Amino acid sequence: MKGKVISLHGKKKWTLAAVAALLVILVVTGVILWCTREQTTKERPQVTEIYGIPVHTVLIPETLPGRPGIKRKVKYIVIHETGNPSKGADAKAHSDYLLNGGEGTTSWHYTVDDHEIYHHIPDSEVSWNAGDQRKEPGGNMNGISIELCVNSDGDFEKTFDNGARLTAYLLKAYGLRIEDVKQHNDFNGKNCPQTIRESGRWQEFLDLTQRYLKQEEK
Ligand SMILES: [Zn+2]
Repeated sequence: MKGKVISLHGKKKWTLAAVAALLVILVVTGVILWCTREQTTKERPQVTEIYGIPVHTVLIPETLPGRPGIKRKVKYIVIHETGNPSKGADAKAHSDYLLNGGEGTTSWHYTVDDHEIYHHIPDSEVSWNAGDQRKEPGGNMNGISIELCVNSDGDFEKTFDNGARLTAYLLKAYGLRIEDVKQHNDFNGKNCPQTIRESGRWQEFLDLTQRYLKQEEK
């Protein structure tokens, strides 16, 4: 009889030990999930059109210095202008340029012109767009960067409108607010996006973005 009691005790001990081990595993997993929850953003599904604008996803290879492949948390949308008034300097031309490594380490996520959008780097990865190194939170580490084309043979009004549509789409996709839309200037003082800044149209850009955001929410 005594032996049986001891063996029952032994079983109980093992069950308790297993439950305790399971609890420890659950707690540790919970702590890891809690600690990493803020650190990376999950990429939105790939699309071929955003609010009626064709989107071409032509990612630059990870072997180029402009695509370091660093996963991060998206906190901002950063607005730029290409500063290139040359004829033909549209979104496709900038895509080709990036693919050929033309900008060295400088890179960005999207180029928008008056009729289409090119996507160069996954939203969940860092691009070297804002000139603020690895500062956190910062334009490089936490921004999705959008370059608006200013080619002289393009219709900037349409580009402006397309840029606002893409911005609204990304705000919605990543649960961001209108306050999270920034200028390149906010991160390193560069006069970019230049024509929007110099023509005093930043608030207009935000208002337009807000309008598209509200339309989407209806
Ligand atoms: Zn810029």
